[in-house]
Amino acid sequence: MSSIADNIGSVTRRIQKATLQAGREPGSVHLLAVSKTRPAEDLREAIAAGQTAFGENYLQEALDKIDALADLPDIHWHFIGPIQSNKTRQIAAAFSWVHSVDRLKVARRLSEQRAATMGPLNICLQVNINEEDSKAGCGLEELPDLVSEIGELPNLSLRGLMAIPDPDQPEADLRLSFRKLAGALKDLKARHPGAGPLDTLSMGMSGDLELAIAEGATWVRVGTDVFGARPAKS
Ligand SMILES: *Cc1c(COP(=O)(O)O)cnc(C)c1O
Repeated sequence: MSSIADNIGSVTRRIQKATLQAGREPGSVHLLAVSKTRPAEDLREAIAAGQTAFGENYLQEALDKIDALADLPDIHWHFIGPIQSNKTRQIAAAFSWVHSVDRLKVARRLSEQRAATMGPLNICLQVNINEEDSKAGCGLEELPDLVSEIGELPNLSLRGLMAIPDPDQPEADLRLSFRKLAGALKDLKARHPGAGPLDTLSMGMSGDLELAIAEGATWVRVGTDVFGARPAKS
């Protein structure tokens, strides 16, 4: 079995190669190590290998790890799971990014509950890009209104869009899904220039990060290929 450090090395090389092949600037794509279900010791290994950004889906599990790793400086926590609106206070206090905002109510609460002294919370709007019934995320058609309202919230920095396209679709369709998200970001940037940096596309996971980078991803969220296969959900 390869070590977490080895895995980070090979994922980093994949990212570099895909970035180069896409003719994009070196360093323009960041690795978010998705550490859901992983014990804090695994994260320590990743941190020792130089990884600083971790994505977590479940709030209580994340808070436990944040606490366990509080001795380490400069770790950035990204929340990437579904958000219940009664959990926003803890999310606003413990994370530097939230990739999975999909409605105004949650954005308003995160802004109200973020301490101004911490600096703005970076957020992405999650888009249900393949309009799957089972998936979180807003529709593409909701984006203009959401962006103009969220752009006014003082303690949020609207960084961009996130999506989890249906991984079972043919590669050409998957690519098209990434391209659609990139196109949506470009439109928003043109139409709502004051709403926030709008410089981020959070898309691509272990199986499709190359495709996502070819279409403009700036954060790839990688779990399995960093930490190994997750145990099946019971
Ligand atoms: C689990 C998860 C990932 C990582 O998926 P892998 O296929 O293990 O790389 C990425 N994004 C989100 C939102 C996830 O929940």
